[in-house]
Amino acid sequence: MTSNNGLWIVFLGAPGCGKGTQAESLISENNFTVICVGDILRNSKGKVVQEFGKTVGELVDAGILLPDDVISNFVRDELKKISNVASKNILFDGFPRTLGQAEALSKLSEEFGKSISKVLNFVIDDEVIFKRILGRYKCAKCGKIYNDFFLKPKVDNTCDVCGGNEFSRRADDNKESLQKRLSEYYEKTRPLIDFYLRLNVLCDVKADVCSDARMNIMKVRSSILEVLDLNEN
Ligand SMILES: [Zn+2]
Repeated sequence: MTSNNGLWIVFLGAPGCGKGTQAESLISENNFTVICVGDILRNSKGKVVQEFGKTVGELVDAGILLPDDVISNFVRDELKKISNVASKNILFDGFPRTLGQAEALSKLSEEFGKSISKVLNFVIDDEVIFKRILGRYKCAKCGKIYNDFFLKPKVDNTCDVCGGNEFSRRADDNKESLQKRLSEYYEKTRPLIDFYLRLNVLCDVKADVCSDARMNIMKVRSSILEVLDLNEN
């Protein structure tokens, strides 16, 4: 007998909201399989998109948005690789990003006899996002991550883990770039929030509940489990 009682969920959240960390714990602790569109596109670089006569890689590099149906076909292929997929807990990451993609996802789910169970909307102040992203840096030697506002090394300029004194920051972690990413996000996401509100599956998750980073991750995780009606493993 096959069951179709898996949870199919979507995370919506601005860069820096912490959804990546929460996705990881759902995967490792709660048996979720992630369908990550970013990874799919990276693995499909050589595939030709017929209507453009160009490869996925060429289109992405040129900043051209792939048509919704192309992305939807990739996602369908991934879902088909999973046995008994309707019974599995699936988390969609980086998809949908537009209203067209949200509609495509609804159709896709129907094909598999499913509907989206919950859409978790990570709510966080821009100010916190700025601090998280603009403040972050890492040890050049061991990769340990620090933050100017939330997590400094115990001894100035010395890595807690390896004692290294060299640190690096990501080039795109600057104010202009972040402002641009955030405005794009809000512009494209707002219609998705309305779309999922109408479907009655949207739940807000307060993504900044505590100033202690580790504690915050655990508290956000608890509220996600509560929304999904899952128990802590
Ligand atoms: Zn280090």
